[in-house]
Parts: sequence; C-alpha cells; structure tokens
Amino acid sequence: MGWDADVAVVGAGAAGLSLAVELAKPLPGNGRRPAPRVVVVEAPPGPLRWPARTWCYWEADVGPYDGLLAASWNQLRVYAADGAVIDRPLGRLRYKMLRSDRFEAAMAERLDAYGVDVRRTTVESAQDAGAAAVVCGRDASGARSVLRSSGLVSTRGLCGSYPPPGPRCSSASWGGSCARPSRPSIPAWRSLWTRLQ
Ligand SMILES: Cc1cc2nc3c(=O)[nH]c(=O)nc-3n(C[C@H](O)[C@H](O)[C@H](O)COP(=O)(O)OP(=O)(O)OC[C@H]3O[C@@H](n4cnc5c(N)ncnc54)[C@H](O)[C@@H]3O)c2cc1C
Repeated sequence: MGWDADVAVVGAGAAGLSLAVELAKPLPGNGRRPAPRVVVVEAPPGPLRWPARTWCYWEADVGPYDGLLAASWNQLRVYAADGAVIDRPLGRLRYKMLRSDRFEAAMAERLDAYGVDVRRTTVESAQDAGAAAVVCGRDASGARSVLRSSGLVSTRGLCGSYPPPGPRCSSASWGGSCARPSRPSIPAWRSLWTRLQ
C-alpha cells in the first residue's frame, strides 16, 4: 500500500510550519537518507484560523528567524517610581518581534521549495489504522478528502480523543501545554517517520 505522505502535519500555525520545514529540508550527507515526504493539512480561511498577530520572544544572539523580524532590542528601559529612567543592556539576550503573517509567508516559500504539499482541509477525524494514520476532512467546498500517512503529528492541540492514541499518531502543542507521548525535540520528530516504517 502506498502512502500519500510519510508524515502528515495537521495545523499550519507556528508549530506546524516550523516542524514541517525541519522535517522536509534536505538532509546533509548527499541524500543517503532522503527527507520524508511531508504533507501539511491546514483549515481553509475561516474561524479555525487565527488573525495575523505579533509574537515577541527572548533569544540569545542570532536566531533562525532574525531575517524576518519586524524589530529587536538589546536593552531594557525601566521607569522607576521616582521618575528616574534606568537603561540596562541585555547582554547576549535580545527581545525580538516577529509578525505571524511574515513568518507564515516565509515558511510557505520554504515548504514550496522543498516540494511539500499544503492541503486546505478541515480535519474531522484521524485514526491510527495499524499500518497507517488515516486523516479525514473536508475542503472549502465541503468535499471529503482522505489522507494516508505513515505518521501523523497534530499541532492543533489535544481535543477529546483527537488524535487517537497509537504509535502512528502524535500530538504536540507548542503554544499550549500538551505533548504526547512526550515533548520531543525537532531531531526526534525528524526521525519519526523512519522509526514508523
Ligand atoms: C494576539 C496574540 C499574541 C500572541 N503573542 C505572543 C507572543 O508575543 N509570544 C509568544 O510566544 N506567543 C504569543 N502568542 C501565542 C502564540 O501565538 C501561540 O502560542 C502560537 O501561535 C501557537 O502556535 P501553534 O502552531 O501551536 O497553534 P496555532 O497557531 O493555533 O496553529 C494551529 C493551526 O491548526 C489549524 N487548525 C485548527 N483546527 C484544524 C482542523 N480541524 N483542521 C485543520 N487545521 C486546523 C488552525 O487553522 C491553525 O493554523 C500570541 C497569541 C495571540 C492570539
């Protein structure tokens, strides 16, 4: 049986996009181990999608998204109760501001370059069907679609029994507190598909 993908990533938010890019980017070593075939499944425009927003975060030195930043600061200003203004350098730390629409556009470009298929589908169910993870949903026109993958990572967070427990289905929410079976690292996600084969 052929899969539509090695890894299906549900949700094209910050977590799903960065995960899909890391999974799909060519591996070093002249392709001795090819990158997995990744499909991203993201809801069509509508209530499930967040409006554009701004993220701010702390990071030491140079980070992977520095080229996309709207602004960054390397010093802190504190206004004391007596009106005094205290400026302090942050050392190696920077406070960085990234706009979600810029990040999403840049990640979409990278996914396109890596040949990753992004499907505009609202996921309605996912099953660990033994030999495959089976993801069912509907596109914007209401048409049903089915995706079979060797492994499934859901980044839209845990919701009831979604996705189902099982070796082929994992869930993580970078934004929330959920991660199953454990909060894994990107290299762990990257080798997920080979372990599932
Ligand atoms: C106004 C605002 C400001 C914020 N500021 C900061 C900040 O300054 N710093 C910071 O660290 N964090 C900030 N956050 C939090 C940060 O935005 C989230 O933690 C982060 O975006 C979560 O990313 P995610 O990929 O886990 O989830 P999401 O961004 O929620 O992505 C989940 C994706 O799954 C898709 N989806 C949902 N259901 C389905 C379905 N059934 N089928 C298919 N797709 C589906 C959604 O469309 C969405 O694109 C802010 C959040 C908001 C709302």
